[in-house]
Parts: sequence; structure tokens; C-alpha cells
Amino acid sequence: MLTVFGSTALDTIRTPTKVLKNVLGGAATFAGISSSFFVKTGLIAVVGKDFPKKYHDVLASRLNLDGLSVKNGKTFRYDGKYDKTLSTRTTLRTELNVLENFQPRVPQHYKKSQFVYLANNDPDQNIALIKEFDRVKFSMCDTIEFWISTKKASVIKMFKKVDAVVINDEEARLLTKEFNLIKCAKKIMDWGTKYVIIKKGEHGSLLFFEDVIFPSVAFSIENAIDPTGAGDSFAGAMIGYLASKKKTDLAAIKKSTVYGNVMGSFAVQGYGLDGLLQIKKSDIKKRVALYEKITRF
Ligand code: AMP
Repeated sequence: MLTVFGSTALDTIRTPTKVLKNVLGGAATFAGISSSFFVKTGLIAVVGKDFPKKYHDVLASRLNLDGLSVKNGKTFRYDGKYDKTLSTRTTLRTELNVLENFQPRVPQHYKKSQFVYLANNDPDQNIALIKEFDRVKFSMCDTIEFWISTKKASVIKMFKKVDAVVINDEEARLLTKEFNLIKCAKKIMDWGTKYVIIKKGEHGSLLFFEDVIFPSVAFSIENAIDPTGAGDSFAGAMIGYLASKKKTDLAAIKKSTVYGNVMGSFAVQGYGLDGLLQIKKSDIKKRVALYEKITRF
């Protein structure tokens, strides 16, 4: 089993073609739904009393929700706007609401998880949560500009507690104050994490381990409409694939980045979660086969 902890949100997403208001989102939502294609996934998250039943049903259809808390107050809200290239997003508002000072409850049966993903969330909460798991074989985390600007020291501390950090290029630069991505990764590895995966949006990703660099291209598509959650879907697929194979060696981690790129490409093909909710396992298999074909030479 895999445990995913992080934000579950009501997102407002402004794309050049459509504005979505208060739709189901959140880093743990995207990551968990993505990983659920590979392995049974338990979610630890918090929502407010305003969280619509229809969204609860979507989560329940894919994930174990024994770790979901419903608190008095409003659900975490995020508001972001893309430019016309879809590659630059400006955060207009982050409202923590019930996520602020949340003390997660870890169901007893989750504690056996050997794979744990700390999706984008308050780094102090992530640090406290990982301590509750004593059989972890592989853990991974992500972060976002909001936490780098408000809790940088905690973000670095969180990196020390996990095996792998997945982070996008802009955030890696912001955090390390380096521009070159190899330098960024080296600095992050120096802080104490073994693997660093830098996501580069439509340009794929770079995996770093000791002196190894493994680049993987994105699966190119011409109908990207909403990139929200692509990074979380990438990470969810990586750790979901590893958990399904119960492997953590470098070869498996390299392969997991291919699944990451493939799930990221599905995520951007629909608004909000639609891209992930519309596919079947067979679509993933087909796209991975195609990915292999187009990258072979
Ligand atoms: P991505 O597009 O992969 O960067 O992920 C976007 C998702 O992250 C959205 O669904 C948001 O709800 C969520 N998110 C945005 N800001 C934060 C934050 N500060 N902490 C946790 N989750 C966030």
C-alpha cells in the first residue's frame, strides 16, 4: 500500500480557454488519483464542511479515505492563472483555511505503508507525518513557491527526511538560488536527499542520483489545455509504479519517471482532474509503449 499526504483543494483555475471555479484539486488529490492506477492508495488530508459530496464521491471511488478528516471551516483554496503559453502560472491566492495547523491522524493500517508520498503541503506537517511510519522503504516529497517563501528552513529540513525530492525547475532555482539545474540538484542532494527529480513541464524531467543524470522527455501532445496537477500526477505515477513493483533500485526509479511523464501528459489533456478521470489502465499501457517507440534510436 502507498500513503499520500498533502493538500486536497477547491481550485480556481484560469486558463486561456476556460475558467474553472472551486473545482476539486490539490496536490494529494492529483498524486493519489494518479498513483491509484498502479497501487492501492490511502489518502491523508483535510477538508472543510463545505467540501461537496460529489467531490468526496470522486475521491472515494479511487482512494482509501480512512485518513481523510472533515473539519469545521473552509477547505483549502488555491487560485491560479496561466498565460497563453500555458507554461507560466501566477498564483493569485492561497487560502490555507482548515489546512493551517492541521494535525493529521494516521490510520493504524496505513502505518504499514512501505511507500509514502508527501505531496505539496506545509513542510512542518510533512516532517511530523513521516515520523509516524516505521517501515518506510521509499519516501518522496514535493514543494511549491508558497512554502519556499514562507518556510524555507522547514522545506530544507523536510528534504533531509525523504529518499527523493521531486520539484519543478522554477522552484528548484528559487530554493537553491542557482540557475543551472545540475547545480540546483547537487545542492539539494547536499542537503541530504538521495534522489532529486527536477520536472521541466513540457520538456520532461531530469533524475539525479550521485553522479548519474537521467533525462526523460515529456510525452508530446498537441492538445494541452490545463497543466494544473501535472507535476503531482507525475510524482504520483512515479511512486505508484515503484510501490506496485516493490522496487527502489535506480533502474526502477528511471522507469518510474517514464510513467511520470505519461501520467503528466494525460493530466494536461483535460480541465482539472478530467484528464486523469477519463482514462483507463489500458490507455496508460498504450502510451508507455508509444513513449518507448518514439524515444528509441
Ligand atoms: P501543480 O500544478 O502540480 O503544481 O499542482 C497544483 C495543485 O497544487 C493545485 O491543485 C493546488 O490546489 C495545489 N496547491 C497550490 N498551492 C499549494 C500550497 N501552497 N500547498 C499545497 N498545495 C498547493
